[in-house]
Amino acid sequence: MTTLVFLESHDGELTKGGLGVLGKAAALGGDVAGVVLGSGVADAAAGAGAFGASTVYVVDDEALAAPLPQPRVDALEAVVRESGADTVLFPASVLAADVAAGLAARLEAGLNWDLTDLRMEGDELVGVRPALGDTVLVDVGWSSTPRLALIRAGTFDPVESGGTAETKAVAATFQDFSTGARLVEHLTEKAAGPSIEDADVIVAGGRGLGGPEGFSHCEELADVLGGAVAATRAVVDAGWYPYAAQVGQTGKTVSPKLYVALGISGAIQHKVGMQGSGTIVAVNKDPNAPIFDFADLGVVGDLTQIAPKLTELLRARR
Ligand SMILES: Cc1cc2nc3c(=O)[nH]c(=O)nc-3n(C[C@H](O)[C@H](O)[C@H](O)COP(=O)(O)OP(=O)(O)OC[C@H]3O[C@@H](n4cnc5c(N)ncnc54)[C@H](O)[C@@H]3O)c2cc1C
Repeated sequence: MTTLVFLESHDGELTKGGLGVLGKAAALGGDVAGVVLGSGVADAAAGAGAFGASTVYVVDDEALAAPLPQPRVDALEAVVRESGADTVLFPASVLAADVAAGLAARLEAGLNWDLTDLRMEGDELVGVRPALGDTVLVDVGWSSTPRLALIRAGTFDPVESGGTAETKAVAATFQDFSTGARLVEHLTEKAAGPSIEDADVIVAGGRGLGGPEGFSHCEELADVLGGAVAATRAVVDAGWYPYAAQVGQTGKTVSPKLYVALGISGAIQHKVGMQGSGTIVAVNKDPNAPIFDFADLGVVGDLTQIAPKLTELLRARR
C-alpha cells in the first residue's frame, strides 16, 4: 500500500489532525508520504518526518496561497500521479472535505468519509464509520483504487517517531476553472487560552445555563482549571456561544483529560463528540439525565449553586 496523507499547515506549522492521521497510516504499514500544498510551506513540510512520513511531497506555489480547494485538487492530482499512491487520507476540515470531494470527482475514485478507524485485513484496507446517528459502527471498503478517505477530526493523536522524511518538490499545472475563485477577506477569531481541540480540560455548557450570561460559570471554572470552554448545539443554535465551540456530531470531536459538563442532557449527538474524554464530570439537576449514564462523576444539583462553589474552592487551593 502506498499512502498519501493530506497535511494542512497553519502559520508555518502542520496541524495536529494531519499528523495524527500520518501516525495511523504509518502503523498500517506500506509506504507513507505526507503532502503539503501551499505557498511558502517547505519549512513546515519538513516536520512530517518526525510523525511517520518517509517522504513529503510539496507543491509550493503562489496559486495555493489562499485556502481554496480547487487549485489543491489540481496539485493533489499531480502528486497522486507522481507518487503512484493507491490510498489518500484526509483529516477532516472544511478545506480537506472540499479537496477530497474534488479529487474523488477528478480521479473517479471512491471516497469514504467520517471514518473513525482504519485497519488492514490481509491486503485489504477497511474503514470504520459510525452510522445511524453514531449508534452503530460499520465496516466500509473501496472497490477500486485510489481509495480516498476523510477521517473524523480529532480521531488520532500525533505520535512522534523521531524519523526524517525526504522532501520532493512537485510542479502542478492549474486549470483555468480552478483559479477562478478569489479569497476576498480572511478573518481570524481571537481566542484566549487553549482551543477545545488542544485543551486538556474542557468545561462545556448546555441549555441548563439558562442564557448566554450563564456561560460565565463555564468561563470562570475553565479559567481556574486552565481549560477551554465548549458548548452544545442547542446553545450554539440559540446564539448563546460561537459555533467554533460546538462539540458533537455536527461540531468538533474532543478528547481532553477532563470534560466538565454543566447543564447538558447528554444527547447521543453530543456524546459522540466527547465520549473519548479521560474523565467526564456532569452537573445536572435532573437525576435521569442521559449524561449520567456515561459520566464518571455525576452531581445532581443546580449548576448555578455548584459551579461557583467549585470555582471558589479550586481558586482557594491554587
Ligand atoms: C442531526 C443532529 C445533529 C446534532 N448535532 C449536535 C452536536 O454536534 N452537538 C450537540 O451538542 N447537539 C447536537 N444535536 C442536538 C442534540 O440532539 C441535543 O438537542 C442537544 O445536544 C441538547 O443540548 P443541551 O444538552 O444543551 O440541552 P437540553 O437537552 O435541553 O439539556 C439541558 C439540560 O440542562 C439541565 N438543567 C437545566 N437547568 C439546570 C440547572 N440550573 N442546573 C443543572 N442542570 C440544569 C436539564 O436537566 C437538561 O438535562 C444534534 C441533533 C441532530 C438532530
